[in-house]
Amino acid sequence: MSKDYDVIVIGAGPAGYHAAIRCSQLGLTTACINKMVDDMGSPVLGGTCLNWGCIPSKALLDASHKYVEASNDFSDLGIEVSSVKADIPKMIARKREVVSKLTKGVEGLFAGNSITNLPGTGKLMANCQVAYESLDGNKKNLQADNVILASGSVPVTIPTAPIDNDLIVDSTGALEFQSAPKRLGVIGAGVIGLELGSVWSRLGSEVIILEALNEFLPQADGRIAKDVFRTLGKQGLDIRLGARVTASKIKGKGAKKSVLVTYEAGGEESELEFDKLIVAVGRRPYTEGLLSSDSGVNLDERGFLFVNDTCSTDAPNVYAVGDVVRGPQLAHKGMEEGVMVAERIAGKKPLVNYDVVPSVIYTHPEVAWVGKTEEQLKAGGDPYNVGSFPYAANGRALAANENEGIIKILSDAESDRILGVHVFGAQASEIIAQAVISMEFSATAEDLGLIMFAHPTLSEGMHEAALGASGHAIHMVNKKARKG
Ligand code: FAD
Ligand code: NAD
Repeated sequence: MSKDYDVIVIGAGPAGYHAAIRCSQLGLTTACINKMVDDMGSPVLGGTCLNWGCIPSKALLDASHKYVEASNDFSDLGIEVSSVKADIPKMIARKREVVSKLTKGVEGLFAGNSITNLPGTGKLMANCQVAYESLDGNKKNLQADNVILASGSVPVTIPTAPIDNDLIVDSTGALEFQSAPKRLGVIGAGVIGLELGSVWSRLGSEVIILEALNEFLPQADGRIAKDVFRTLGKQGLDIRLGARVTASKIKGKGAKKSVLVTYEAGGEESELEFDKLIVAVGRRPYTEGLLSSDSGVNLDERGFLFVNDTCSTDAPNVYAVGDVVRGPQLAHKGMEEGVMVAERIAGKKPLVNYDVVPSVIYTHPEVAWVGKTEEQLKAGGDPYNVGSFPYAANGRALAANENEGIIKILSDAESDRILGVHVFGAQASEIIAQAVISMEFSATAEDLGLIMFAHPTLSEGMHEAALGASGHAIHMVNKKARKG
C-alpha cells in the first residue's frame, strides 16, 4: 500500500496534538485521528485536558475561589461587599466558553500547520497501517511511515458505586452540576477529589471525602501533606482516611432521591446519605478498540501500552505518549513526550527528564512539588539539608492576605544540589517553575541563594528557603548562622 502520511497520530489530547504540531513543524506530513465529540456530537480537539480535565476544573476552581474571597475575605482588606451571590449556571456556561475558545484554538493550530484533521476512530493494524472510521461511519485504511498512539485515559470505576450520571458521577459529571448539592460525597482524596471537593464546598456543599488509604497524599512531602490536610479540614472538607466503601444504593424517588453509602473504617461499618456522589479513584489507560491483534504493540502488567524510555512501543516505528503509557498522568508530561517523539522521528535525539516532572494540586492554597520528598531521601539514606520559609514571614504574602503556607527546599548535604522543592501556598503552581528550572540546570541551594529576587514577591520565599538550606536565611533567627 502506498504511503498516505509520514505520521498518523491517534488521539488529539495534549500528548497527541503536541506531537502532531511538532511533526508538522519538522516537515513531516501529518494526520491526527480523534474521536472525542461534544454534547452536540461535533468533533472536539484537546482531549480530556481541554474538554473535561485541566481547563474546566481550573475555570470552576478560580471562579469559586473568587466567590469565597468576595464573601469572606474582602472585609479583611477593608472592602465591604453586600449580597455576594454565586450564579452556578453562569459559572458553568463561562467554563464551557473557556473550553470552546481553547479547543477552537487547537483547530486553528492544526489548520495553520497543515495537519489533516480526521474526526473518528483509529485502530492500529500491522506495519503502521491504520484502520480509520469517520464519525459518520465511513471506513478506509491509511498507511503511514510512523504512528503515534495518544489515546489517553478514562476514569476508573468501582462496582460498589457504579456511575449512573445522575446521582453517582465521575469527574466529568461533577463539572456540570447546575447547583451545589447540599450533601456531597466524594470517593477518593486524590487530586480530583480535593480539587472538585473544594469547588463544591466553596459553593455551599457539605463535603465528605472517603479515602481508602490511611495516609493522606502519600505522594507529597509528609510535612506539606499534614499542613494541607489541616487547612482543607478548616475550609470544611471532611476527609475520612482508611474508609473503604463497601456498598451504595439509591434511595427515594424523583427530587427526593439520594444515595446511601456504606463504608468500613477501623473495623466499623457506617452509613452516609448524599445528594450526589463523585467517584474519583484514579484513571486507567484507554486502549479499547485501539489495537488489532497483529499490531505488535504490547501492554504492561497494568494495562498501559508498553514503551521504553523514549516512548517506542514493541512495534517498529510505533510510539505511544501521554496517559496511555507509564508515568504520571499529567498533561505536561504527555506534551513533552509528544514533542520528544516527533523530534526523534525527524532524526533528533531529545529525552524527557522524568526526574523533574512538577505536580500541582489547585486547592487554595495550592500545593506544588518537584523532585524527591524528605521521606524518600530518608528512606534512600541520602544525607540532605532542609531549608524552609513560611508564607507568614513573607512581606508580599502578608500584604496580599495570603499568609498561609511554606516553601521547603531539600538539597544534597555534600554537593548542595537541589533534590526536591515543596510549596504549599498562594501561587505555588507558578513558584514551582523556578524549582523546575533550577533542577534542570543542576543548581545548588547556594546558587539560588546568590540570585537576586524582586522584592516584595512570594518568590522571595524560594530565596530564603535556599539560604536556609545552608543555614543563612536572613528573615529567620538561626543560632548556627549567627556564630558562622
Ligand atoms: P487525553 O487528554 O485523554 O486525550 C486522548 C484523546 O484520544 C481523546 O480525545 C480521545 O477521544 C482520543 N482517542 C482515544 N482512543 C482513540 C481512538 N482509538 N481513535 C481516535 N481517538 C481516540 N493534568 C494536569 O497536568 N494538570 C491539571 O490541572 C489536570 N487537571 C485534571 C482535571 C481533571 C478533572 C481530569 C479528569 C484530569 C486532569 N488532568 C490534569 C490530567 C490530564 O487531563 C491528562 O493527563 C491529559 O489529558 C492526558 O493527555 P493525553 O493526550 O494523554 O490523553
Ligand atoms: P488519584 O490517583 O490522584 O487519587 C485517587 C485516590 O482514590 C487515591 O488517594 C486512592 O487511594 C483513592 N482510592 C482508590 N480506590 C478507592 C476506593 N475504592 N475507595 C476510596 N478511595 C479510593 O486519582 P484521581 O484524583 O482520580 O485523578 C486521576 C489522575 O488525573 C491523577 O493521576 C492525576 O494526576 C490527574 N489529575 C491531575 C490534576 C492536576 O494535575 N492538578 C488534577 C486532576 C487530575
